[in-house]
Amino acid sequence: MTAPEAGGAERHAIVIGAGVAGLLAARVLAEFCTRVTILERDTAEPGVVRRGVGQGAHLHGLLDRGRSIIEDLYPGCTDDLVAAGAHTAEVLVGTRWYIGGSRLAATATDLTSVIATRPLLESVLRRRTLELPNVTLREGITVRGLTGDGERVTGVRVTTHRDSRQDGDHGAASDTPAIDDGVRRSGSTDAADDGAGEGEPRSAGGADSADTEIVGADLVVDASGRGSRICEWLRVIGATAPVEERLEVDLGYASRLYRHRDGLLGGHASVIISTGADGRGGGAVHVEGDRWLVTLAGMMGDHPPTDPAGFHAYAATLSAPDIHEIVTAAEPLGDAVPYRFRSSVRRRFDREPEVPAALVVLGDAQCAFNPLYAQGMTVAALQAAVLRECLRIGLPFAELPARFYAAAAEAADTAWQLAAASDLRHPAVAGRRGLRTRLTNAYVAQTYRAAHHDSLVARTFMRVAHLVETPAALAGPALVGRIMLRGNGAAATMSAHH
Ligand SMILES: Cc1cc2nc3c(=O)[nH]c(=O)nc-3n(C[C@H](O)[C@H](O)[C@H](O)COP(=O)(O)OP(=O)(O)OC[C@H]3O[C@@H](n4cnc5c(N)ncnc54)[C@H](O)[C@@H]3O)c2cc1C
Repeated sequence: MTAPEAGGAERHAIVIGAGVAGLLAARVLAEFCTRVTILERDTAEPGVVRRGVGQGAHLHGLLDRGRSIIEDLYPGCTDDLVAAGAHTAEVLVGTRWYIGGSRLAATATDLTSVIATRPLLESVLRRRTLELPNVTLREGITVRGLTGDGERVTGVRVTTHRDSRQDGDHGAASDTPAIDDGVRRSGSTDAADDGAGEGEPRSAGGADSADTEIVGADLVVDASGRGSRICEWLRVIGATAPVEERLEVDLGYASRLYRHRDGLLGGHASVIISTGADGRGGGAVHVEGDRWLVTLAGMMGDHPPTDPAGFHAYAATLSAPDIHEIVTAAEPLGDAVPYRFRSSVRRRFDREPEVPAALVVLGDAQCAFNPLYAQGMTVAALQAAVLRECLRIGLPFAELPARFYAAAAEAADTAWQLAAASDLRHPAVAGRRGLRTRLTNAYVAQTYRAAHHDSLVARTFMRVAHLVETPAALAGPALVGRIMLRGNGAAATMSAHH
């Protein structure tokens, strides 16, 4: 990495949130700013499920596109993860991947799965980011609002916690409080966070009170996750909040850790059972510490229970038996923990004619995806790559946001469309199903069937799902014939069996 030139003007960037998006943004900004300060509300030790990242107890797959961007930003990062206990696997060879009850062809995809808990992924990224000499992390700091006006953001207003370090549990799931949409509502050490629309600070020049402080910056990046208050903060300074697109999926997760045992799953590192027509699915992955992390998921209110009997019974209803076999045979380590995710949300900053200068919103704060498709961290990585490109061409911070939002929207479009199209296959998900969506979904169903038997279709489908190739790759002349032919043939075979 090239450090900013010595003797250049001081450029200070603030990043709100030390989640995956915040860390990647800080890594990029360190190339172009003299100082980067990450402000993080949590004070937990790295490597644990933090209160601010309740989703950390649940299965987190990193798509290959995200992995390669991260590898570019932090050379050797995949090796670091493996050294810390993660496993890697060829996506369709090391993982049993089921769609509609049948396994996809076990073929080479040239895609690598990194199999680890979210806290491990984050702790490696955090360590690598904080090794950069011009990056500082301030923990126990809650951002309460922005300073500046509708034209330009000049910093943030923060409060400092006086409490000691939080108790984090050192497993990926046990004792984590139920978190709804990632926004703290109860049992929080900082209940005031739910209060919206705080007033303006009394002064912009220093400490307001014993607890409140203004931190000035040349650029502010909001990476505070899906619970971000950015829309309220913008209104308070007189700026316009962006329009939000929402797709309600009312998804429930329940996850539980088990002791790993050789022999289960035929030596494979993981299994994914994609959500079927009933909206139920799940995954089991062999994570660090020789454990299975098992996640069950259900859409539109059909959520998996967390009591042991209910968890087992739900696993037994999935369209393939592998996960039920694991939860039946393996020793549980702690209780199952829930997570509820109501809707995918996209804040359309790219559609706003005027956005304040010197403020960039990224990660889940901009665009929070249905987690079933494992796109969130990869979209955060794509946005970090876009930010880097904008800064590389020398855009001043005043012009940066508009250009960033336009390019970031393009980067997120494919992921959003793939996820939304798939969600709309569930009959209870409300949304417009025009002719194009219906035709696309019919073709996708045909693709799934062909991918059970045809290695090239399976490989291309996975490369599209990992955002390495565009969906157009599935519509090329070589593929269309195979998908129509083999998809139909497979459909006939499947219906002959049922
Ligand atoms: C159940 C579930 C499963 C998921 N599975 C996957 C998956 O398989 N693959 C994948 O790629 N993605 C997955 N995701 C999405 C993924 O977790 C996020 O997209 C990704 O981590 C990027 O999030 P982020 O960094 O923007 O926000 P977060 O990870 O939510 O981090 C936000 C950070 O900001 C801090 N913060 C919040 N407010 C403030 C404040 N006011 N002041 C200071 N700090 C603050 C928080 O403490 C936190 O550290 C899943 C999400 C959920 C909900």
